[in-house]
Amino acid sequence: MQAEIIAVGTEILLGQIVDTNSAFIARELAGAGIEVYYHSLVGDNADRLTAVVNQARSRSDLVIISGGLGPTKDDLTKQTVAHLLGVKLIEEPEAMVKIRKHFATAERPMTPNNRLQALYPEGSQPLKNRTGMAVGAFYQDPNTADIMLLPGPPSEAEPMFAEQAVPLLKATYHRDEYLVSRVLRFFGIGEGQLVTLLSDLIDGQTNPTIAPYAKVNEVTLRLTAQAKDEAAGNQLLDDMTATIKDRVGDYLYGYGDENSLAAVVVNEMIDRHLTITGAESLTAGKFQSTLGDVPGVSAIFPGGFVTYANSAKHDLLGIPQAIIAEDGVVSAATAQQMAERSRALLDTDFSLSFTGVAGPDALEGHPAGTVWLGLAQRGHEPRARLVHLTGTRAAIRERSVMTGLDWLRR
Ligand code: ATP
Ligand code: MG
Repeated sequence: MQAEIIAVGTEILLGQIVDTNSAFIARELAGAGIEVYYHSLVGDNADRLTAVVNQARSRSDLVIISGGLGPTKDDLTKQTVAHLLGVKLIEEPEAMVKIRKHFATAERPMTPNNRLQALYPEGSQPLKNRTGMAVGAFYQDPNTADIMLLPGPPSEAEPMFAEQAVPLLKATYHRDEYLVSRVLRFFGIGEGQLVTLLSDLIDGQTNPTIAPYAKVNEVTLRLTAQAKDEAAGNQLLDDMTATIKDRVGDYLYGYGDENSLAAVVVNEMIDRHLTITGAESLTAGKFQSTLGDVPGVSAIFPGGFVTYANSAKHDLLGIPQAIIAEDGVVSAATAQQMAERSRALLDTDFSLSFTGVAGPDALEGHPAGTVWLGLAQRGHEPRARLVHLTGTRAAIRERSVMTGLDWLRR
């Protein structure tokens, strides 16, 4: 089973907009266990579109095309594909009702070309457009590749694909199988090291398959299993997860595309009724902003401190100037003071502090990437931890926050 994706649109070809549809479709297909072999991009031109679709049909089992389903002159995809398949375009009655209603509500006259949005190639299954007008289509061809048509605007293409197309494709291509997938998220280990530690599993494993993916500051593994039903699929995933945990469980912090490190930490603190604040120098609020990304964080986070200059560390937190003068601002002592004083001021269970060198220049003789983190906990002596990070200023600040969250998690 091989799929390929074609994006249609002169504005994409010219670089005026970026093709996000193909990336979205490819990710969804990966989750559905369908392999993608090619991406193509073609302008709004019937001849070139025909050539690209014919080439795709000759080498793939499924061709997914986005763009050009609209009512204007440059929207040619449906007409071109219907012509190439040798079928007519027919009307989808519900879509037609929706289009008429739209024009009635807007009190605008409907022109004949608006009807185009309700047309789809005869013999295909129409895909409803919940967020727009143009219908999509899925044409199954017993002789060559199947073709799917999606609208161009991502606000229409994405829900249509995720909600209707994916279940349809799964049902079509995995009739007797059930596909389940799970994302494992890792922090503190590089992709190269993770893949090396799991190389025999990754190379040898066909069910579930294991697909690594490196993001800026973390690595994920997507496990995809095929089985006769969901329970059997989940069992395969559970077994593989256990094997992976045995080897690299220390770095595994959570599951699922949505569950960031911050979400894992915050949700655990919410469950345990533990509160937190922060005092930030080089990260300048990034840690607290990251906490703020997680819904429900207000239950455990009253607010905190951004103390960039030494004077702010003294004025806001009350850190004695002598400590900063003697130990330096990039030091264990300053990190501990920042954590403990901010924790005490807001009477929280925990506080995390960040002081270090974001770069590009050195500070107090420390090179960029030298970062002290402080962790204060009610009833305990504050601790400090030194890390040496690499990369750009943005990467160092981001990674400081991730390192702090990972420390909290442990
Ligand atoms: P409409 O009915 O809005 O004309 P359409 O199906 O005809 O929709 P296009 O005319 O090809 O789609 O594209 C409409 C808009 O959708 C583009 O101007 C662009 O902003 C966005 N778009 C189209 N294709 C893509 C893509 N592959 N990735 C991201 N955005 C896209
Ligand atoms: Mg258009």
